[in-house]
Amino acid sequence: MTIELQATLENSSKSLLLTPNPSSIKPKWSIEDSEKLYRIQGWGDPYFSINAAGHVTVSPQGDHGGSLDLYELVESLRKRNIGLPLLLRFSDILADRINRLNAAFARGIARYNYPNAYRGVYPIKCNQHRHLVESLVRYGKPYHFGLEAGSKPELMIALATLEPIASDNSDTPQSLLICNGYKDREYIETALLARRLGHRPIIVVEQVSEVTIAIEISRNLGIKPILGVRAKLSTQGMGRWGTSTGDRAKFGLTIPEMLSVVNQLKAADMLDCLQLLHFHIGSQISAISVLKEAMTEASQIYVQLAKLGANMQYIDVGGGLGVDYDGSKTNFYASKNYNIQNYVNDIISAVQEACEAATISCPILMSESGRAIASHQSVLIFDVLAINDVPNELPEVVKEKEHLIIRNLWETLETITNENYQEAYHDVVQFKEEAISLFNFGYLSLKERAKAEQLYWVCCRKILQICRQQEYVPDDLEDLEKIMASIYYINLSVFQSAPDTWAIDQLFPIMPIHRLDEEPTNRGTLADITCDSDGKIDQFIDLRDVKSVLELHPFMEDQNSSEHRETSLPNHQPYYLAMFLVGAYQEVMGNFHNLFGDINVVHIQMNPKGYHIEHLERGDKISDVLSYVQYDAEDLLENMRRYTEQALEDNRMSLEQSQLLLENYERSLRHYTYLAN
Ligand SMILES: *Cc1c(COP(=O)(O)O)cnc(C)c1O
Repeated sequence: MTIELQATLENSSKSLLLTPNPSSIKPKWSIEDSEKLYRIQGWGDPYFSINAAGHVTVSPQGDHGGSLDLYELVESLRKRNIGLPLLLRFSDILADRINRLNAAFARGIARYNYPNAYRGVYPIKCNQHRHLVESLVRYGKPYHFGLEAGSKPELMIALATLEPIASDNSDTPQSLLICNGYKDREYIETALLARRLGHRPIIVVEQVSEVTIAIEISRNLGIKPILGVRAKLSTQGMGRWGTSTGDRAKFGLTIPEMLSVVNQLKAADMLDCLQLLHFHIGSQISAISVLKEAMTEASQIYVQLAKLGANMQYIDVGGGLGVDYDGSKTNFYASKNYNIQNYVNDIISAVQEACEAATISCPILMSESGRAIASHQSVLIFDVLAINDVPNELPEVVKEKEHLIIRNLWETLETITNENYQEAYHDVVQFKEEAISLFNFGYLSLKERAKAEQLYWVCCRKILQICRQQEYVPDDLEDLEKIMASIYYINLSVFQSAPDTWAIDQLFPIMPIHRLDEEPTNRGTLADITCDSDGKIDQFIDLRDVKSVLELHPFMEDQNSSEHRETSLPNHQPYYLAMFLVGAYQEVMGNFHNLFGDINVVHIQMNPKGYHIEHLERGDKISDVLSYVQYDAEDLLENMRRYTEQALEDNRMSLEQSQLLLENYERSLRHYTYLAN
């Protein structure tokens, strides 16, 4: 039996390895296949697509402007010594997002004959970086696009960044400055005084106590505030931020509290100051029905406040305008089942209907869209450092007296067919478990265990290939794809650069930015370089639900360096991946786990000749991140010098070794916290 088996194995060992079966050879992989696979049109249109070279291209001005090759851009930045990981910001995309939002309101207002205007504001908390906020204010100027502050530091940004008086001296209304968040006296006083600069700050009351302070400060300064109230709607949101509304939500005033604010203002003869109603039903509204319901409730509150005698002028629908991260156009949490125009039309029609029914004048419409404005402009680029595949080698030929468990695995491998693959899978799983028990009891040597494991993986691979050709995969085999996935080690910290993937399982589209004319034959998950098992990405966008592995390419040998393989590592060509739509929330919420610091940021702007680098922010050096946790680089270096001197004195190292160590240490302090490739 054993001898026979050996013979067949020797003859057939080639065919056991996984050469594709000729009948399944498909036509050559095309970029259309990549487009479909990574769903780039779904989430990327009109900014991202794939060119004939198989590279991702960026069209920062959308449909009307040039495009640039992302792969070539990254290569040219690397030549300028701007290493990976790298965040690219395309300011033209920001401009396009602002244009789109304002154009949608303009269209909606025209369509419904809405008798008032739209004045959007950008919520600074979504991405506070100076160059972004400044560009935003610049691009928003024609629309009188304002800012929203949710804290004192954000208020300071807004006050100094928005122009208080329109420079063209026109009498068009100023951009608005919405003051949200918890407020102390200093906050309210500063906002009130800013009115004298020409700003139009609207203080949105979130706590009843704030109105008491506002009344007092206003009397002391002799300046009247413009006030708003934030309503706690009973409409329940959905998804991750669904609890932003509802009776026990963290923010806003209940109806009795709102009435108490009205009464206080009335008593102070300041009811004319109350001009705005605000609500926010949570970020990333996936289902338009939630917005419709909230609009109905909020519009009624607005009407009722006007009827109580408040001088109502504005309705501010907050944030929540969603981003379609998976391109599925559904009410899945990573998607949204509406477009900007649907969203805008629903807002306009609800407000108009309520106001006309009550014969009060229609307010200025406001929104605080952050995610929908800031997400698309940032692209995170990182390289793959190494790939770990499950073993794919047959062990040496089975000896006559091989342990039964190994012979069993061999035999299973030989006999896997389209008919019995499910049963074969159960068998090999059981054999592998048995092999481990045998090893634990001392009946299997380390070499034998290695053989058993190799056989197990080769069996699994063969079974997986059969599964992939089936239309229906039995439940118990569904995990096989994940078990067999390669691990791609990426030069990135998800905690620093994509914290929401870790904290709240947020999905972002991820794909290679080159080799897209080549079939991605591997399936992989991503592991970052932090020493934390949570530092990984194993959920990826899919048309339905999510998928646990991503289609990726194997490394491509580097022809130049393979000659001197010993000396030059790595000997593969760089493989670049990108995570898209990361412009909202990711940068500031990132943290310094394992002391991986801020990454390089490059601002790209299109010009008639192509593009230029508008601005470069160098990422943290190692000495920078050390100083965040109170280490002084000089002190550390001094200690190292002392220890080295001591080692030299004691003859534990040579002078050359000590020099090499100190040089490395000193140079590292000045270097990027990520790995250099
Ligand atoms: C966070 C927040 C926003 C922004 O929400 P997006 O979903 O990013 O548009 C707007 N308004 C308030 C009050 C917020 O807290």
